[in-house]
Amino acid sequence: MTDFNAEPLQADTHAQGHLTQVRGACPHDCPDTCALITTVDKGRAIKVQGNPAHKATDGVLCTKVSRYAERTYHPDRLLTPLKRSGPKGSGQFEPVSWDDALDGIAYRLQAIASQNPEAVVPYSYAGTMGHVQGEGMAARFFHRLGASLLDRTICASAGAEALTQTLGNKVGMKVEFFAESQLILIWGSNSVGSNLHFWRLAQEAKRQGAKLVCIDPRKTETADKCQVHLALRPGTDAALALALMHELIVHDWLDHDYIAQHTSGWAALRERALQWPPERAAQVCGLPVAQITDLARDWGTTQPASIRLNYGMQRVRGGGNAVRAIACLPALTGAWRHRAGGLLLSSSGHFPVRRAALQRPDLLGARQPRTINMSTIGDDLLRPASPVFGPTLQALVVYNSNPVAVAPESGKVVQGFAREDLFTVVLEHFQTDTADYADYILPATTQLEHWDIHTSYSHTDILLNQPAIAPVGQARTNTDIFRALAARMGFNEPCFADDDLTLCRTAIGNEADFAQLLEHGFVSLPVPDAPFAQGGFPTASGRCEFFSTRLAAMGQDGLPDHVANYEVPIATDRYPLAMISPPARNFLNSTFVNVTSLRAVEVEPLLEIHADDALARGIASGDVVKVFNDRGEYHCKAKVSDRARPGVVHGLGIWWRKFGLNGTNVNQLTSQHLTDMGRAPVFYDCAVQVARAG
Ligand code: SF4
Repeated sequence: MTDFNAEPLQADTHAQGHLTQVRGACPHDCPDTCALITTVDKGRAIKVQGNPAHKATDGVLCTKVSRYAERTYHPDRLLTPLKRSGPKGSGQFEPVSWDDALDGIAYRLQAIASQNPEAVVPYSYAGTMGHVQGEGMAARFFHRLGASLLDRTICASAGAEALTQTLGNKVGMKVEFFAESQLILIWGSNSVGSNLHFWRLAQEAKRQGAKLVCIDPRKTETADKCQVHLALRPGTDAALALALMHELIVHDWLDHDYIAQHTSGWAALRERALQWPPERAAQVCGLPVAQITDLARDWGTTQPASIRLNYGMQRVRGGGNAVRAIACLPALTGAWRHRAGGLLLSSSGHFPVRRAALQRPDLLGARQPRTINMSTIGDDLLRPASPVFGPTLQALVVYNSNPVAVAPESGKVVQGFAREDLFTVVLEHFQTDTADYADYILPATTQLEHWDIHTSYSHTDILLNQPAIAPVGQARTNTDIFRALAARMGFNEPCFADDDLTLCRTAIGNEADFAQLLEHGFVSLPVPDAPFAQGGFPTASGRCEFFSTRLAAMGQDGLPDHVANYEVPIATDRYPLAMISPPARNFLNSTFVNVTSLRAVEVEPLLEIHADDALARGIASGDVVKVFNDRGEYHCKAKVSDRARPGVVHGLGIWWRKFGLNGTNVNQLTSQHLTDMGRAPVFYDCAVQVARAG
């Protein structure tokens, strides 16, 4: 027998001798934010499926999360608090009680904070996208302490800033209407692997006669299934977008009325775009001229036409400019007039999350702590105290993140984490590369074991995650851990007593009907079908801002332009190959790498390399190769493949270092340079050389 559990679960619900099904939400850093149904048998989760009642999920999950029960009961799951018993990074720990762990942590944090609370730094990202187990109680704790603030830039902040400077917020067309589009540019996204539910919509459009165009340096699984693939060089997307504009202008494929009514800065953008004839862009992008002119014709003459942009293409020096240039294209042709036209990078700006009520920055009082950029944690851990930087980092509390594996230039990150004087606490499900360097590891609950509220960066529904099972072992929720630490540190403000359901309600306030969330698991936001058909962009001017006065006021170019990569490889250089590091299909950032069945599919760390580049180096598929530059050396297996264009290699990630062939991963090679906007890392702006190892 099955039934849908619509009520808050009590402990004894789990012990009943029948199957229950509990509604939840996928917590992972994926645009789709699927609605889950977990089937529970006598307190044990036996199956995790997509909720068929949630239209965006349509009952379908990706392979990764279909294995969520396997991940939850994985034999390596952390079940008790652990205290370091060997040298830093040795991975040697001994079990301790929760009281001993929390007392020990509170004692050390208090001692450090009594000298200068800014020496304590939280480090977290999207290990869960949940607002409550993310920055709910954690942010309250660190604000009350007066710890350094964290600039959470590691994934999306260049694109987010660029979109905000152009459209006014992280907003766009509604994802469901891609199914009605006649032309879809899938730009910087391997949707088959990392935006599965959008891909289903694109397939539907294709069945209705739409043309799908993939723009990506890599011949991805998505490119395989599109009619057209433009394999441009990494970091040249803005040049392509400007050349498309050039063609729209010279052929007059423009919606003059939409431009006049709903945009600003057109005269200046027109002048800029006319400097980018297709021949110039073809040189920069490494594309045939005809591919650019054909694409411009398609974009200029097809309605409805849409762009699904994703974050891969903004991980280069000019990532912000590239997003701005691309985000101008729909306004030029009036694509926004149609509900199946426009652009979507992120829908997250549509959600009215009450972050201040949830995270309580008011607990800082008059204090204004410094901000540490998570993308330069390697350098910052090694930086001495100074009047400009402030105190040396003395304590790191890591939750929902695995920086030793995912932060750039990991040689320096490891060196920093290995400091014997650094006090490190890691809240985790597994003993990750980062947990190896902890002084204390605290076992955290998974999505099946706690409450949370989720929003999406693709669809426009709010989801509630209900706990399906009791915490496994002695795992505790992130919120509970920070509550317990707050109590030990004497933080007695009433907000530290809020339970998780209260935090869920706080996150959304009156913006969604909580009873409906409890009953159905999701609530749709009232976003219009064609939100910018009549303009009304959430910019100060209400227009799509081709020219950004705010960027100009910051001393930056007010118009989008092509900004060359920091590391543009030249054939005669020491490092003549460009490396990008897209996700391996069965991993999601560094999550799932330890799930045996998924790792078995990926087998081992791979470098895709074009046959010409392989031949020139005497490399065959299956050879162990070293990929290297001045920052380090990474060993993996070569795969000679037409997925790579000549001059570009793909280090598929993100493997845990401890599963790597020489104890490293691709981030041994990436740099700590930052993007033009949003202070983000440039993972795909990385020059390397490759040779056979040994
Ligand atoms: S990772 Fe993405 S596609 Fe997979 S279940 Fe989660 S939200 Fe859905």
